[in-house]
Amino acid sequence: MTRVWPLPELQYRPLTDNHEARDVALVHSAAARAAVAERLASLRVVWSAEPAGAVESEWSRLAEECVGEVVYSVGGGLATDAAKYIAARRRLPLVCIPTALSVDAFFTWASGVRRDGCVHYIPTKAPDCVVVDFEVVAAAPPSVRAAGIGDVLSIATGSWDWRYAHERGANPEDAPYDVGADRIAAALLAEAVECAEAAGAGDEGGLRRLIDCLALEVQLCNLVGHSRPEEGSEHYFAYAAESVLGHGLPHGDLVGPGILVMAALQGQDTQSLRRALVACHTPLDTIPADVIEQTLRGLPQYCRAHDLPHGIAHDITDDMVSAAMSALPL
Ligand SMILES: [Zn+2]
Repeated sequence: MTRVWPLPELQYRPLTDNHEARDVALVHSAAARAAVAERLASLRVVWSAEPAGAVESEWSRLAEECVGEVVYSVGGGLATDAAKYIAARRRLPLVCIPTALSVDAFFTWASGVRRDGCVHYIPTKAPDCVVVDFEVVAAAPPSVRAAGIGDVLSIATGSWDWRYAHERGANPEDAPYDVGADRIAAALLAEAVECAEAAGAGDEGGLRRLIDCLALEVQLCNLVGHSRPEEGSEHYFAYAAESVLGHGLPHGDLVGPGILVMAALQGQDTQSLRRALVACHTPLDTIPADVIEQTLRGLPQYCRAHDLPHGIAHDITDDMVSAAMSALPL
């Protein structure tokens, strides 16, 4: 049997238009919760937790402690991934409230945990419902408001890796290259580049188009059964840099530079990608140059140690690093 995971139901509505009758277990980040506290005042919160990190042992403890009839998450990738884990473990329904469109985790059925300096995705569950209040998202800090565009722009480098591995016969049997899926991914990439300016400005139409891109990117990965169309060397770079810089940095701050550096190493034009990231206020200077260089030099070994699907990151040479560092596209 082949199982295709679903997308969550999406509701576009003011958070104040809320008719929740169940006892709520709330998983949140403090800043996000503070931003919507008044709007969610009618929720009957009987338990709440702020996860400190993406560590399975902590989430497992929270899942045991959790009380309530429905899990809500209010926050970004960390709160969402933890809430998906807790809801799956306790077999509870899950409602996610993004206060910013910072990642694609609102739509996926897996949670990223940090283990041995890398990110491992464990199957949890897709949220049953994602509620987007555009007024809330528009008011989010600009650097995270539309930062999830990185998870669509990563198609540029992820799909390139997928083709590159295909030419070398390096794709595993369960993730063969699929030209149709690649074409659909390319269309989503073009749409993300198109909507970047409006989404970055917090315009409702632009934010909706970004949600369309994120949801379709996730659904494409659900249909092909893996994330090769949108996840490759740029994510490996982000995971490796995170293992040096420590956890807690926004996903987009790491993936954005990863996309530009890897696209340059792949010989791709980085201009439109850079413009889109800048339009969405993705900080491109979070990773110091010496950490970028150190990360790039160690990346081939890192990819092999963590058994990551083949991409340009596996084949970076010292000469390529020197050339990349003298022409950093950041
Ligand atoms: Zn990502």
